[in-house]
Amino acid sequence: MADPKGFINVSRQTPTRRPIDVRIQDWKEVYEPQEFGVLQKQASRCMDCGIPFCHQGCPLGNLIPEWNDLIWRGEKKEAIARLHATNNFPEFTGRLCPAPCETACVVGVNGDPVTIKQVELRTIEEAFDYGDVNPLPPDRLSGKTVAVIGSGPSGLAAAQQLTRAGHTVAVYERAEKVGGLLRYGIPEFKMEKQIVDRRITQMEGEGTRFRSGVNVGVDITGQQLRAKYDAVVLAVGATNWRDINVPGRDLKGIYQAMEFLPWGNKQALNEISGEPPINTHGKAVIILGGGDTGADCLGTSIRQGAASVTQLEIMPRPTEERPSAQPWPTYPMIYRVSSAHEEGGERLYAVSTEEFLGDENGNLRAIKLSEVEFKKESGKFEKVPGSEKELKADFVFLAMGFVGPEKSELLQQLEVEFDERGNIKRDENFATNIDGVFVAGDAGRGQSLIVWAIAEGRSAAAAVDTYLVGETQLPSPIEPTARPLMV
Ligand SMILES: Cc1cc2nc3c(=O)[nH]c(=O)nc-3n(C[C@H](O)[C@H](O)[C@H](O)COP(=O)(O)OP(=O)(O)OC[C@H]3O[C@@H](n4cnc5c(N)ncnc54)[C@H](O)[C@@H]3O)c2cc1C
Repeated sequence: MADPKGFINVSRQTPTRRPIDVRIQDWKEVYEPQEFGVLQKQASRCMDCGIPFCHQGCPLGNLIPEWNDLIWRGEKKEAIARLHATNNFPEFTGRLCPAPCETACVVGVNGDPVTIKQVELRTIEEAFDYGDVNPLPPDRLSGKTVAVIGSGPSGLAAAQQLTRAGHTVAVYERAEKVGGLLRYGIPEFKMEKQIVDRRITQMEGEGTRFRSGVNVGVDITGQQLRAKYDAVVLAVGATNWRDINVPGRDLKGIYQAMEFLPWGNKQALNEISGEPPINTHGKAVIILGGGDTGADCLGTSIRQGAASVTQLEIMPRPTEERPSAQPWPTYPMIYRVSSAHEEGGERLYAVSTEEFLGDENGNLRAIKLSEVEFKKESGKFEKVPGSEKELKADFVFLAMGFVGPEKSELLQQLEVEFDERGNIKRDENFATNIDGVFVAGDAGRGQSLIVWAIAEGRSAAAAVDTYLVGETQLPSPIEPTARPLMV
């Protein structure tokens, strides 16, 4: 175990963010690396408690006390081996995960939890720096072929596991480059895209083939795919966005978050010449949706030079402390300040959009909103009489979540069934109703998190391996029905 008194003698210390006025001038990641000695002391705070609830909090079942101990001792190679044993891509989760492991940490019962996510991130970054992340090709090939459709974290995890098990795997992606939401949704200031590229390089070295720019269902049919491959994994995400049906929705200037964010990333990487087609420079921006996607729109708008940004949320402002109804070790809904929130903009809670208002040319000019209260009697949010007001808006970004996978040509051609929530239906082995066709990630689970997508990809890979060769040695961290530790 790490230092037995570490959690008593050392206080929690998170890495610093770059100064706001500096970081909003560029698109680089906001966090400064922590000095290794400081990180080791943080790792020493892990109590190696009898029942590590952090394992429960993490869908991947990361062996957190083990690598905390190894990092504290400076045994970096062993630490990354233990981390990679359960997580294909700790560099993604170390940057982007909301860390349900930390809200389940036993030190957090009456103190500040261990900075697990930082230890994870530094462990993998040290491994990349010292050349310890190399391709691990299989010893022999099985002769079986698998097509993975979609290159987000679930598709990548499934592909890496199946390639290492000896199958010949091709990942199809309709976008120009692979990575799914890691590349096109998550802004550069949260994770630079060279982080995705270097992992793809490792996967190519292992033998995984990538076919980007191929819209499966259009460029190759579902039937052709099934004839060509022994198994298919649908990792197509939950890209069907939630919309809002109020007067004025068709005015010019209202976009979905995922129509806006990819341009921000292309701009950040100089992949477009000139101005992006949606450019908030000097404009009044309103974001509907108080979650992470909304915060990504906020940080992107600020970097483009928006004149004002307001983020609207229908729910009331959460409390700063855990609500009593969401005790340790659950993941609580509390007031969080992301790096983008520090950078500017205003957050309004308990408000609802009544109408979008336009000018004579059909351009958005304002949004009409009202305050709302949740009424137990009706079970609905109800308008507070007389609370209507108008806010100037040149752009509105809708960041209200996603309602399952698109009912695309591919899914129609394959004739897969959907569950009552609109996600692709699967059994306890991640199998759809069609023989040899499996589903992983948001497409089967519904809109979720990267850590769940990786866990899904790993588990679906184990199921596919069993389907192909009758047995598997691949780990399966979750069941398709597994849910976060919540009350
Ligand atoms: C803006 C935004 C920010 C987010 N930030 C975070 C965060 O900070 N932390 C976190 O944990 N989670 C975050 N999430 C959620 C997280 O990104 C998703 O849960 C995760 O990416 C799901 O992975 P996936 O592999 O299932 O699907 P996706 O990442 O959505 O990938 C699916 C891929 O399939 C491709 N595809 C679909 N149909 C076809 C087809 N017919 N042919 C070929 N390719 C196809 C799509 O183009 C896409 O690339 C965020 C989500 C959004 C929208």
